[in-house]
Amino acid sequence: MNASEAFDTPHGAHSHRAEHVQHMRQRLTAGPREALSAAEQQNLLALREEEKLARDVYATLAARWHLRPFENIVGAEQAHMDMVQAALEHQGLPDPMQGLPAGRFASAPVQALYERLCAQGLQSPQEAVAVGLHVEELDIADLRAAAARTASARLRELYAELERGSRNHLRAFFRWQQQLGGAYEPRHLPVEAYRAIATSPKEACWQ
Ligand code: MN
Ligand code: MN
Repeated sequence: MNASEAFDTPHGAHSHRAEHVQHMRQRLTAGPREALSAAEQQNLLALREEEKLARDVYATLAARWHLRPFENIVGAEQAHMDMVQAALEHQGLPDPMQGLPAGRFASAPVQALYERLCAQGLQSPQEAVAVGLHVEELDIADLRAAAARTASARLRELYAELERGSRNHLRAFFRWQQQLGGAYEPRHLPVEAYRAIATSPKEACWQ
């Protein structure tokens, strides 16, 4: 079993997701390598780590609480990791996550954030859902910043795809928050932007 299979979701999501990753991989690796600035490269590497952060936090919380959004979204985060990896490979950039098991990170601040988020989310289902909202909100803010700082159409497409996933994840966690109770104050996005995403309908996939 490879890493992607280990983190994939059971049921029918598997083949659709695999197809979607394959489609994105083709788009991200078509054409010649691009000349990316150091900042563009750094953003891409950081986003690979951020997708792993999401995957590994959710896997930990799924094992503790067995709440549907965590179990479903783990597989989506693996797909996001795979898409970023395709872009890294195409650019000839080494994978900063190479050989790192679940829960281990290359950068100390991300390692510390992982541990903080897991500790919070293991306290209660309400705290777990607040962690989900935090991770998705952070992803969206970082993806928007990275997209604004690149002229590469290919990277913008990747970031738009990852952000669409994050918006849907945020909506799923927001619905669960409404069911379970508990509070969350956005800290990375303006509150109006956060609420606009959280309360809007789920966006369909490319198919
Ligand atoms: Mn993601
Ligand atoms: Mn997500």
